[in-house]
Amino acid sequence: MDFSHVELSAEDQAFRDDTRAFIAKHVTDDVLHRQLEFGENFDERVHLALGEAGYLASDWKLESEGGFSPVRRRIFHLEIARAHTPWYHWGTTSVVARLVWQFGAPELADKVVPGVLSGEIRLCLGYTEPEGGSDVATCKTRAVRDGDAWVINGSKMFTSNAQNARYVFLLTNTDPQGPKHRNLTMFLVPLDSPGVEIQGIRTLDGDRTNIVYYSDVRVDDLYRIGEVNGGWTVMRAALDSEHGIVNPEDHGLQYIAAMAAHGDLMAEVVDAVAAAVAQPGADGRRPLDDDSVKYRLGRDVARMEAALSTPGMFGRVAVAQTMRDVTPDLMDILGTASALPTETPGSATDGAAEHLYRLALPLGIYGGTLEVFRNMIAQHQLKLGRPSYGG
Ligand SMILES: Cc1cc2nc3c(=O)[nH]c(=O)nc-3n(C[C@H](O)[C@H](O)[C@H](O)COP(=O)(O)OP(=O)(O)OC[C@H]3O[C@@H](n4cnc5c(N)ncnc54)[C@H](O)[C@@H]3O)c2cc1C
Repeated sequence: MDFSHVELSAEDQAFRDDTRAFIAKHVTDDVLHRQLEFGENFDERVHLALGEAGYLASDWKLESEGGFSPVRRRIFHLEIARAHTPWYHWGTTSVVARLVWQFGAPELADKVVPGVLSGEIRLCLGYTEPEGGSDVATCKTRAVRDGDAWVINGSKMFTSNAQNARYVFLLTNTDPQGPKHRNLTMFLVPLDSPGVEIQGIRTLDGDRTNIVYYSDVRVDDLYRIGEVNGGWTVMRAALDSEHGIVNPEDHGLQYIAAMAAHGDLMAEVVDAVAAAVAQPGADGRRPLDDDSVKYRLGRDVARMEAALSTPGMFGRVAVAQTMRDVTPDLMDILGTASALPTETPGSATDGAAEHLYRLALPLGIYGGTLEVFRNMIAQHQLKLGRPSYGG
């Protein structure tokens, strides 16, 4: 691993300064307050401004297509994350737009991609079903051919950001009698179609997600992504990207772990706790002078650093597991005031540790649970064979 300092050119420094100024102008206290209240991880005004300024297009495109250089991509992602920009769903829109471009009809890509890059069109994922999502190939949502169209019936659990999206990237079953993995078809379903009903759900950490019902929803064959019963090929490309199994770049500037932005958040909270315990309390003593506080904080810092340096899908497990393990410790170090949430008078570190504690649980579920990831690591990376649950 290359730990050398990256010297920024004058142009890249100017880019960083402009990006900081742009984010400071758009990601206001008001935006952050709305995020706290509604947990949407999305703000339309910010998103449209990012589109208009060309950031979305530069982030979506590869460098060879006119997108960001690795240095600028790194600067952009760091600045976006440091400001806590409510922008987590861009990753989904970005990946799905690539798949539409790669596997969809050119006419559909022409209809969707420009709107994605301007920020007007957002895309969400409809894989998980109420009866069980880890094994997505057991999909029960049906799509039945009717002339040039398809009729879709079923329901999907946890379709995050559907309320702000124009289309859902929907996994359907097009041949219930067919062999597993060869009976699935993907669609990009317009969410304003008659028969689509979106109901909001709030998670433990205050985020908004949805359950979406599909009742006799008609979509033209134009919206099919990939071959009929060839959906698994399309899904695999999407899942590999989500799971961090994409070809690692070798410039050393990319995030190391999958979902590493959450690791940055953890680093920020660990720093805030370290700063808080270095302040003298009412009795004039610093909690940090207590050996047990020093030991526990040091252990948490070491675990966090190890997680942030763990690559790919191993890192996805390390970041989420570490977050689950260190947050109770951080709250304990801070004392009872750490249980008060953000924007509550008297809360320690303005509720940052408490929020991270609640975030750690869903973080180990969405995009695939930690248990399922551990199995994938055992099976595919360590070549230990398929797990056997038999007696
Ligand atoms: C906040 C949030 C946002 C989400 N956003 C989206 C989204 O936008 N789109 C979308 O499609 N989905 C989304 N999901 C769904 C997420 O991907 C699933 O919740 C996850 O894959 C687990 O599926 P499940 O909830 O059906 O649990 P199940 O698959 O029913 O699992 C239940 C338990 O069994 C364990 N388990 C299951 N299979 C195995 C196995 N093979 N080995 C060991 N243990 C196993 C799991 O680890 C878990 O503890 C979101 C989830 C959350 C919480």
